[in-house]
Formats: sequence, C-alpha cells, structure tokens
Amino acid sequence: MVKTTKIYLCMDSKDTYKLLWKLQDNTRMLKNKAVQMLWEWNNFSQEYKKEHEEYPKPKDILNYTVGGYMYDKLKSESLLASSNLSSTLQLVEKQFKTNAKDFLRGDKSIICFKKDQPLDIHNKSIRLSHENGTFYADIVLMNKATANEHNGGGCALPFRLWIKDKSTRTIVERCYDGVYSVSGSKIKYDEKKKMWYINLSYGFDKYSTAELDKEQVLGVYLAQETPFTASVIGDHDRLQVSVNEIEHYRNAVESRRRSILKQSAVCGEGRIGHGYKKRVEPMEKLSHKVADTRDTINHKYSKAIVEYAVKKGCGTIRMEKLTGISETDRYLRNWPYFDLQTKIEYKAKERGIDIVYVDSADIQRCCRCGHVNEEETTGSRFKCTECGFEHDVAYNASQNLSAGGKDIKVNGRK
Ligand SMILES: [Zn+2]
Repeated sequence: MVKTTKIYLCMDSKDTYKLLWKLQDNTRMLKNKAVQMLWEWNNFSQEYKKEHEEYPKPKDILNYTVGGYMYDKLKSESLLASSNLSSTLQLVEKQFKTNAKDFLRGDKSIICFKKDQPLDIHNKSIRLSHENGTFYADIVLMNKATANEHNGGGCALPFRLWIKDKSTRTIVERCYDGVYSVSGSKIKYDEKKKMWYINLSYGFDKYSTAELDKEQVLGVYLAQETPFTASVIGDHDRLQVSVNEIEHYRNAVESRRRSILKQSAVCGEGRIGHGYKKRVEPMEKLSHKVADTRDTINHKYSKAIVEYAVKKGCGTIRMEKLTGISETDRYLRNWPYFDLQTKIEYKAKERGIDIVYVDSADIQRCCRCGHVNEEETTGSRFKCTECGFEHDVAYNASQNLSAGGKDIKVNGRK
C-alpha cells in the first residue's frame, strides 16, 4: 500500500524557484506532445486495423514500444532527468489508455495539460539525509545539460524538508531508516503558501521477517569506550564502532562551554542590558547542538545494528538494561545509551525483532569456557584465567549477551 505525505521544501536560492518553474513548463510541453503522439498512434492503429484486421505491433512500425518511441523523440527537448522523464511519459500513457475509448467515441475531449503540472520524481531520484536534527532530500531534477546551465554542477539539488508535525517526522524517519521505501513522488507548487512541496510517496518495504529465527540472538553491548559491539555467539564476525563520536563532539563542546562561562564571569557586570538569559544563550545553543549530533549518530548506529541483526537472521536482540543512567543530566557524563536503546527498540520492532533485556552483560565471564574471572577486567582486553581465551572486552561481552541464559560453552571454536 502506497501512501503520500505533503512536505514543504526549503531552498535558499531564488534560482531554484525559477528552475522548478522552468522544469514545470517543460513538463507540460512534453506531456502535451506525448499525448499528441499517443493520439496519432491510436488513429494510425485504427486505420491499420481496418486494412489488416489486426492492430499494428509498435516494435515493427516504430522500432520501439510506444513509451520508448516517445522517450526517444522527446529526450532532446527535455530538461528533466531521464528517469523522471520516463516516469512522466509512463503516467501520460497510462492516463491516455484509461480514457482512450472515451476520446474515440467523442465522450471526452482529449487531454490538455495545463500549466500547474507536477514534476514527477522517480523513486531513485530521491535520497534522504539527516544532519543535526534536520532532514534533507537530495532530489535529482534535471539532466546534465540543464544542470550545467543552472549551476555548472550536479543534477541533484538539496532541499531542506520543513517538517511541521511529529507524525510527518516519524514517516520521514522511517523512510530514511529503510522501514518504509520511498516510491515515485511528485513536486508541486502551493499557490497559497507560495512554496514548493513534495508529495512524498512511501510504502512498507517488502522484507520477510519469516526468515528471522527468534532463537538466533544478537548480543549488543553498549559501552562508553566502544559505543556498540554486536555479535552472535560462536561468530567471529562482529559489528563494532570503536570511536565514541558523541564523546568527541561533546568534549569539544564542553571546552567551548567552559570558555563561554569564563567570559561571562569576567564581563558579567559589564554586559549592561544583558541579563543572565542573554549570557547563557550561547550555551543553550551548544546543548542543542550536542542533542542534535547525538540524535543523528544514534540513528545511524541503531539502523546499522538492526540491519546487522537482519543480515545475521536474528529474530532477537539482547542488551543490558541501562535505565539507571540519568537522562536529566544535561551534559550527560556518559554515552547516551538510553536514546540509542530506544532507537534500537523501535527499529527492531518495525522489523519484527524482539528485544530482550538482561540486568548485566557479564563482562567478567569468559564467552568461551564460561568461567567467571574474579579479577576485575581492566582496559580493553579480556583474558580468561581459566582457558587463556583473549579478546577485546566488548566482543566478549556481546558474545555473552548473545548466549544469554543458554549454556555458553561452545565447543570447537577457536
Ligand atoms: Zn575461558
């Protein structure tokens, strides 16, 4: 089932507005020419039938399908990206066929496309991206020649998506995460708002959850040093991010914050007319930046983890429950696990994957022999005092999470 949602497009240049109108005019011209061709072909077919008692085969006469013929004839006049032009011509042909009988009987006048034509955008022409809490759509609009004339560059233009409500945001998030797949959409002009918008079409992705085995568990270990490590018991392969991007970013912001604090302490009285609120304003902005960055990174991570689970055929993800970490601390002292877990949870749910929580990841336990080491594990290496197994702490912990309550002794593994 395909649904659509209306999203206004923000663009920073008047040239883009002008370009869209130019493309709209071009679309209208192409559509009317296409209808003309279809009409001529239709008449020819009727005549041909009278003479030969059968309809002509387009390939014998035109060397193409009717759609292919129109594309070939119109491409030199088109400013549109080739995939979008194909979409447009297909839609015209479909519309023509639906009404052809009425045209022939004279019940309807032949289609004439007026000036407010939408731009048809092929699904492959839309790429969503996410940066600092904002969604963008890179949309391939035009062919190379038009792009050269317009900006001397790429055929795709970036648009900031103006997302007004939470439900639209959820839809865009799911399209971005691949939970929904984007299909052919339309760009139109809103006369009242004087803005361009996209009618984004989306549907459920057709992936099968039947193949996911609930007994196959992906252990996901979250830690400050290595944001996440995911593995399946007995599997040497793992998915891991070993650089804490958020921490790095937060540290940079933290030092900036300290310098602002120092500044405002020094000139506190001197800033006449600037109250406390004014002085902490830059700090507020910084904390928003941290939150936005966290959001973007956690989206990326949770998406990768859930995709990895699907790739490994895991119907279950097991994690350590990390609710104890304070979310109220503005400058979170720790890796913001809670947000990441929430995102993993919702993405897993969309794919029919269960989430199971355990109290502790058992980082002292050896994933190979099951021995629980008494000495506290320090540093990033785990070394079993019993069997000598040595690996990084995070991998060992994710293996234990994957094994869960089962007998974690696995024979025959290196
Ligand atoms: Zn061991």
